[in-house]
Amino acid sequence: MFKGILITQGDAGYQAELQMIDEAVLPEGDVRVQVAWSTLNYKDALAITGKSPVVRRFPMVPGIDFAGTVTDSTHPAWKAGDQVILNGWGVGETHCGGLAQVARVKGDWLVPLPAAFTERQAMAIGTAGYTAMLCVLALERHGIAPTDGEVLVTGASGGVGSVAIALLAQLGYTVVASTGRLAESDYLKALGASQVIDRSALSAPGKPIGKERWAGVIDTVGSHTLANACATTKYRGAVAACGLAGGMDFPASVAPFILRGVTLYGIDSVMAPLALRLQAWQRLARDLDVAKLEAMTRDIGLAQAIDVAAALLQGQVRGRVVVDVAGG
Ligand code: NDP
Repeated sequence: MFKGILITQGDAGYQAELQMIDEAVLPEGDVRVQVAWSTLNYKDALAITGKSPVVRRFPMVPGIDFAGTVTDSTHPAWKAGDQVILNGWGVGETHCGGLAQVARVKGDWLVPLPAAFTERQAMAIGTAGYTAMLCVLALERHGIAPTDGEVLVTGASGGVGSVAIALLAQLGYTVVASTGRLAESDYLKALGASQVIDRSALSAPGKPIGKERWAGVIDTVGSHTLANACATTKYRGAVAACGLAGGMDFPASVAPFILRGVTLYGIDSVMAPLALRLQAWQRLARDLDVAKLEAMTRDIGLAQAIDVAAALLQGQVRGRVVVDVAGG
């Protein structure tokens, strides 16, 4: 038995509860991990609250990521004592996840904990930060250089947004942060934003094409925000779209794509191939200022995770939340 959050669906409805879990609940897997730290990402909050149908099997341990130590393995790449991290692969959705003290997973899903980070720091980054890096890599691959002009980050005070700002600033880009929380302007500027704009400037229905402003965009919001971001991206610029915090729709025109050669990159962290994951973690180790990471991170215990999940969906959580799973 071990401590964790378990989501059940039965006569009592959809319930997430901290409890002692029988290891027999865990699905098949060739590696058993003693989980030390996990995090709360947007998707975890959806799973814990049941607000969206993220969980596809019951009972389910939520938590789309974790850091911990291998205790047993029949996978050739891993042995007892190895420190590992996991992001995505349907963990916390279709396969029991990281918000419990033990996980059993496929060895193919794991990556080694980078030497630059402690388990806690790796989870302070978490799936949100790793996705922010996937977005940065997409803009870089497109050839966007700091001298090309401003890069817009939407949903700036959130997890992906906060890490994206810190990374872009470290790499020399001029970052414009779009937020609904202008009271967080000092926080966003401390992370590296040169300018903070009110998200209402982007969230209302806009014109099919507007004045060119952004060399690149990292969008976590979707809907009109993504459409307006595309409409105001400069000639041959690029937009990396990873989120839907403002809506899953995309009420846009083809004008920016066919008149300005704008490229829209879809960013998926869940099924990303191993080589890309390793590259992203290697670049996080190189390019993320750990002092900024600390400034955006708050620690909670497993017992607080359910309440904090609800607050996260209400836009009340700033930056990243790490969960001390080992501490209970
Ligand atoms: P957070 O909740 O930490 O951040 C989301 C931010 O979006 C909020 O802080 C808020 O920023 C902004 N926001 C919230 N609601 C709205 C709204 N109605 N309209 C406009 N802006 C809004 O979540 P994460 O950073 O962890 O994730 C962000 C998005 O990225 C989510 O949709 C998530 O599902 C997605 N994601 C996708 C991944 C992938 O693989 N594609 C991986 C990880 C995340 P502010 O207050 O500054 O305006």
